[in-house]
Amino acid sequence: MTQRRYQDDSYATEFESNVVSVSKQGDKYATILEGTLFYPESGGQPCDTGSIQGFAIASVIEDGGDILHLSSGEPPFAPGDVVKVKIDWARRFTNMQQHTGQHILSQAFVSVLDAKTVSSRLGIEHSTVDVSKLDLTWDDMEKVEQLSNSIVYENREVKVYQAKASEVSGLRAKKAPEREVLRVVEVDGFDKSPCGGTHCLRTGEVGLIKILRWEKVRDTTRAEFVCGALAEADYFWKSRFIVELAQQQTTKDTSIPRQVFDLYDSHKELRRQVESLRSELLTYEIAEIETHAREISGTRVISAYLESRSAADIKDIALRLTEKGNTVALLAGGTERVHIVFSRSEDVPADMRKLIAAACELVDGKGGGKPAVCQGGGKHAGRVREALEESERLLDIHLREHDT
Ligand SMILES: [Zn+2]
Repeated sequence: MTQRRYQDDSYATEFESNVVSVSKQGDKYATILEGTLFYPESGGQPCDTGSIQGFAIASVIEDGGDILHLSSGEPPFAPGDVVKVKIDWARRFTNMQQHTGQHILSQAFVSVLDAKTVSSRLGIEHSTVDVSKLDLTWDDMEKVEQLSNSIVYENREVKVYQAKASEVSGLRAKKAPEREVLRVVEVDGFDKSPCGGTHCLRTGEVGLIKILRWEKVRDTTRAEFVCGALAEADYFWKSRFIVELAQQQTTKDTSIPRQVFDLYDSHKELRRQVESLRSELLTYEIAEIETHAREISGTRVISAYLESRSAADIKDIALRLTEKGNTVALLAGGTERVHIVFSRSEDVPADMRKLIAAACELVDGKGGGKPAVCQGGGKHAGRVREALEESERLLDIHLREHDT
């Protein structure tokens, strides 16, 4: 059973202890000490990182009553050695801020909205609480945040003590405690909850508590939040982003949300206009292309290589050309890579699949589709005209076959 020294003093960063055992567990080595400062990953809180006698420890877990310090390399110490344990204080303190902040936030949800915390997870980037109430609004969240931060500003004491479950009143717990003696964490005059984690001594150390967003998860609302150092980092990038946008738009920070929504609306309108102009332009182009129509076995055939056109344009033109009856469109476009679209009117008795396969083979590619519309392409642009001529020849044969 490892002595959990972090529970006596969550501010201690260095400590000496005896090595109890070093063993291989899968592809990792596990070191057990008599006592440790490393908080193991548990209760939804990330573990501490740091070193033992200068040897890096990246992951710490619980195994029954023992705490395992895991490493991928073999540790340079043996059972009986006295070693110096050192934890990464910046990471520990950030975790303490999130953890103490979560206690305050959970009680604020109860006080303001009568919403109980069903579960919580503390993370390296952000944390979450799931509360038993749905359809929460920005207004609700603002009130919860305001109460939480007023508890921070009052710099209340955070007391940790052992007590019998039956003798503690007003305990905020997810379920009835199983143990007889509890480790109670009390935010003076505000919240009492059973917890084995690491916490700040006073609420002022938590810093700003900020709810970032929330969503419905099953029958709860999951609120994502950050405290202290993480809130500072979040505020920094968001503030910088808004200020830079405002400078670029030569406007005030507070005008940015309205401007972004306006830009979005005008972008949608411009896209609609561009689409309408493109379609109008295509109408003229189609009329011009139609002047090159030829007749093959009594069918109007339009065969063209429109170099600068995209695959989508080619298809659009082909479909519009064959809206009229008795028409076949054999179109190609593109210079680096060739796109080919063959389309026919409903009343033309020819199968485009037979034509596209041969055409695409000539440009070193593949194609396919339905009897009335096929598309494909290839990489040999130099043979496009040859491919279109071959398609006309095949079409002529197919149409003649049908006539006889
Ligand atoms: Zn706690």
